Amino acid sequence: MAINLPTTNVVIVGLGAVGGVAALPLARAGLGVIGLEAGTWLTPSDFAPDELRNNLRAWPQAVQKANHEIPTHRPNGAAPYSPRPSIHPMMNAVGGTTLHYWGQSWRLNPWDFKVVSETTRRYGVARIPRGSTVEDWPFGLEELEPYYDRVEYELGVSGKAGNISGKIDPRGNIFEGPRRREYPMPPLRGTGFSEMMTKTAQKLGWHAFPGPAAINSRTYQNRAACVYHGYCNRGGCHVNAKGSTAVTTIPKAQDTGRLTVVTQAHVTTIEVDRGGRVSGVNYLKDGNEYFQPADVVLLASYVYENVRMLLVSKSKAFPNGLSNNHGQVGRHYFSHNTGASVTALFPQNLNNWYGLPAQGVAVDNWADDNFDHSGLDFIGGGNLWVYSDRRPISAAGMSTFGRAPLWGSAWKAFVKENADRWNQAYLQKTTLPYEDNYLDLDPTVKDPLGFPVCRITAEFKENEQKVAAFIQEKMIDWFRAAGAVATEKASIGTMGPTTHAYGGTRMGNNPETNVTDRWGFCHEAPHLGILGASVMGTSGAHNPTLTAQALAWRTAEYLTKNWRKIAN
Ligand SMILES: Cc1cc2nc3c(=O)[nH]c(=O)nc-3n(C[C@H](O)[C@H](O)[C@H](O)COP(=O)(O)OP(=O)(O)OC[C@H]3O[C@@H](n4cnc5c(N)ncnc54)[C@H](O)[C@@H]3O)c2cc1C
Ligand code: SF4
Repeated sequence: MAINLPTTNVVIVGLGAVGGVAALPLARAGLGVIGLEAGTWLTPSDFAPDELRNNLRAWPQAVQKANHEIPTHRPNGAAPYSPRPSIHPMMNAVGGTTLHYWGQSWRLNPWDFKVVSETTRRYGVARIPRGSTVEDWPFGLEELEPYYDRVEYELGVSGKAGNISGKIDPRGNIFEGPRRREYPMPPLRGTGFSEMMTKTAQKLGWHAFPGPAAINSRTYQNRAACVYHGYCNRGGCHVNAKGSTAVTTIPKAQDTGRLTVVTQAHVTTIEVDRGGRVSGVNYLKDGNEYFQPADVVLLASYVYENVRMLLVSKSKAFPNGLSNNHGQVGRHYFSHNTGASVTALFPQNLNNWYGLPAQGVAVDNWADDNFDHSGLDFIGGGNLWVYSDRRPISAAGMSTFGRAPLWGSAWKAFVKENADRWNQAYLQKTTLPYEDNYLDLDPTVKDPLGFPVCRITAEFKENEQKVAAFIQEKMIDWFRAAGAVATEKASIGTMGPTTHAYGGTRMGNNPETNVTDRWGFCHEAPHLGILGASVMGTSGAHNPTLTAQALAWRTAEYLTKNWRKIAN
């Protein structure tokens, strides 16, 4: 029998990137907020710049909840299941995956909000890929801009603006939409390698600029500046230079006295009352079962868990899962196309033994609709990104580019000479949702509590494959022009479990095709708000988190301003 707790105004399920952000405007508005977090608090002393510990042994992700519920994957309904990875790198802790993410904090570009109308206007409706369920967002970049700005300043983002109120500054990204002001901090410093790549891009007539990062380039709000030693691409920051919500918005919300953080609280289902109104959540903690009643529930447990939580929360009013009477939960799923990397070998050392993945240089000339697609047979594009970050074990895992055997003394000699002479660019590209790419519950695989895990049925379609091939060639051009003597292309990979997942509870005005309304509240269950990239209908060519965080702030602020209307 569950222990009934006193009612709160708002319960947030998951205090990661987005739940950790939403808590702040709610608490500042004076609402009583309970954050239920499956993990614990981690501190700087839990993080070490240690490749073995972070990258090989995957501490602490290897022992966590996310790891017991890794989604299964099959490319399509008729295909066999892909091998299931043994680790999912998402974090279960206060701060969630922002504890050990790379911190790249991109805004989407204006086109990403209007893929359908802009493609139709420029090239005709026939250019929308067949089978795609893509819709325009219910609003444009200008409506999200104030929230991007808010989050950048609360977390602390380093970068260089390229467009302040329409005034273009070539030191930043000239393709970005208008922003109201400069970043709170200057960009992370460059390296010899990034300067070489910047000059090369300029020679090619491309526009290179430093990428934005939620990592301090100088002391910010009493947190230290980054010291650039690296080893944090799977690890937290031991000096708190990384703007994880655990060291930014969550403590600020606690300071108001309105946020209560409950750790090791594993939420299992969302409850509705007899009238079908969302009434609270059930969770397990220390072997006990609790019911936390709330006026409003905000679900912020990452894309796969958001979808799974809705699908397992069945009731008389919602027999197919909560807010799923239109069959939209799990639909419009896509994972960001980050495969199809390019690796290059240079004839000289690159001095990349220090630095971090957010410290690099970007080119957006081939992203989104920043170039003319008239003569091409795809829409969208990719962000070119090269960065510093080299670790001994991964460096030794380098390709020999067909120039040496893969074992023995000749291999050792090759690695010894070339370990610091190669670089790999992971390329983020436009990915669209399609009718037959979706999430549902796996019919056989269950987590330790007996709940089915999420099942991904999805594959990259023709448009995504063409974008990938196009962007790889651009990256090869860049590396070659910089002096690379050999390059290799990786395959596009599968759409299996990923750290850049989108959709499943898409946001839009039409309840027939979307789970949430334009504010992030469920069309069918208005006391339930959904936070995270699960509400996003397009990916653009950039990392998702800042957009998901801006949306979370917007949803939370809307709730505070319309409390009486929503909570009643
Ligand atoms: C190694 C790595 C590098 C990355 N780098 C970048 C980057 O540079 N830029 C970028 O934009 N994105 C990056 N990402 C992706 C980024 O981390 C995610 O987009 C972001 O964290 C998602 O936010 P979220 O709040 O939805 O999920 P999370 O941040 O993972 O937070 C979800 C929280 O919910 C909790 N939770 C889950 N289920 C339950 C439950 N049932 N009950 C209670 N609590 C629950 C979890 O414990 C967790 O704390 C990276 C990810 C990884 C793994
Ligand atoms: S390199 Fe910077 S962000 Fe990474 S752990 Fe060190 S100080 Fe923190």
